[in-house]
Amino acid sequence: MRVEGIETSRRVLLVFPRYTSSFGTWEYAYPLTDGIKAFMPPQGLLVIASYLPEHWQVRFVDENLRAASEDDFEWAEAVFVSGMHIQRQQMNDICHRAHAHDLAVAIGGPSVSACPDYYPSFDYLHVGELGDATDALIKRLSADTARPPEQVVFTTKDRVAMSDFPLPAYELAETKKYLLGSLQYSSGCPYQCEFCDIPGLYGRNPRLKTPEQIIAELDKMRECGIADTVYFVDDNFIGNRKAALDLLPHLIEWQKKHGYITKLACEATLNIAKRPEILEKMREAAFVTIFVGIETPDPDALKAMHKDQNMMVGILEGVQTINSYGMEVVSGIILGLDTDKPGTVNALLNFIDDSKIPLLTINLLQALPKTPLWDRLEREGRLIHDDGRDSNVMFKMPYDEVVSAWKRCMEIAYEPSKLFARYLHQCEYTHKRRLKVPPSPEMKSWKNIRRGLIMMRNIFWKVGVLGPYRREFWKFALGRLRQGDIEGLIGSVLVGHHLIMFARAATSGRQNASNYSIRLREAQVPAE
Ligand code: SF4
Repeated sequence: MRVEGIETSRRVLLVFPRYTSSFGTWEYAYPLTDGIKAFMPPQGLLVIASYLPEHWQVRFVDENLRAASEDDFEWAEAVFVSGMHIQRQQMNDICHRAHAHDLAVAIGGPSVSACPDYYPSFDYLHVGELGDATDALIKRLSADTARPPEQVVFTTKDRVAMSDFPLPAYELAETKKYLLGSLQYSSGCPYQCEFCDIPGLYGRNPRLKTPEQIIAELDKMRECGIADTVYFVDDNFIGNRKAALDLLPHLIEWQKKHGYITKLACEATLNIAKRPEILEKMREAAFVTIFVGIETPDPDALKAMHKDQNMMVGILEGVQTINSYGMEVVSGIILGLDTDKPGTVNALLNFIDDSKIPLLTINLLQALPKTPLWDRLEREGRLIHDDGRDSNVMFKMPYDEVVSAWKRCMEIAYEPSKLFARYLHQCEYTHKRRLKVPPSPEMKSWKNIRRGLIMMRNIFWKVGVLGPYRREFWKFALGRLRQGDIEGLIGSVLVGHHLIMFARAATSGRQNASNYSIRLREAQVPAE
């Protein structure tokens, strides 16, 4: 659904800011691929692009791929920017570049919705989700594109139903340069983990698209060249279990129709392990990965952060159950919790060994605005506003000790022999429980084979010949080759190489201990 009754024509430049290097930016993996340069196309801006009046001209620039040029700014009559807290510096930088061309700049998305005061330079703030604020902004720009004398704030009170969301404008994105496609079925989460801003920003009663919308989005992604892996960016895929069960048969049908060329991934709470009826259908729909916010194996810590849903099932048992349906678990882990003790790191390292989870995002606790954690730490006088630190939390343990613990975890968890042992388990156990499908013509196409060959060449040369952990690589690679498991080899090494190299940079102090920390990040604006 688009805003109606707009007659003037406008040229709008949508700019997505560059991410600064972090665990989740995967830059060590990209040189091993056939030209991938960024993680996922940004959903929010591409939905806005589709929502703007049909006769408005739109240009979309993702600065993770290239910087917005002088020509882009000269072409535009207005600029829209969106992003997360971690992109704050880059968003403000885009605003200054646009102002150099005397353009009005609007900002929307999660960061400004939580913290409007982070963005004093912008002309228009769009606070909240797609809705009446979006219509008001469009009407304002339709009437006048000049910069307003002072900042104007539009706040959504009446949200557009997700079932009325337009298809994201994937046709504007350079889809082949992204590692994953992204898709959103629901928004919001019924739980209230202390550190999380999702319930505060998007509500506790998940809002939904229809299964037909999701299938239309998948079709459009295919048309636009995204076929490999699609990630459901929903905060919790089983936030509404009935909705997940409604969607899955549609995904299964879609996969059958297209020969299972696309792999699916999502985020969900660990209690999904208690839902075999959902897991079985996810297996049939070719879900291969679930990101689970395990956070910590310590039950006292889970209780303290109000993450009781992780205690509905034993954590190791839950991971093993998910694996038994052919899905790898990716886990979020937090260090620096109030409940951390001197033995926490050893307990965590044991958990990593026992769970055989290869990929864990290990972060220092960071308090996000609009969370119960933020409110509590503010009351306790424990929020520290200092960009030179890796966290804004005054930990109960000494800061240096917590950062050293994080480095030790990264160093040991991503020691190549340990990481490849965990990947070996995934290849030998988890992957073997996936649905067996005969190779479709698309899988056997020359295009697909050529892609695989390019990645193999890059992996063998850049990791096997030039890499710093050749012995562990060859031990793993030869085992996979003997099994004829090329997919397991490529998938594990692409991700594993990033983890190993990132961890080495982190332990030598060249990376931050939190995906939310902005320390060391000034040099990252804009894309080179
Ligand atoms: S389950 Fe996940 S999305 Fe939901 S509140 Fe907890 S951390 Fe946030």
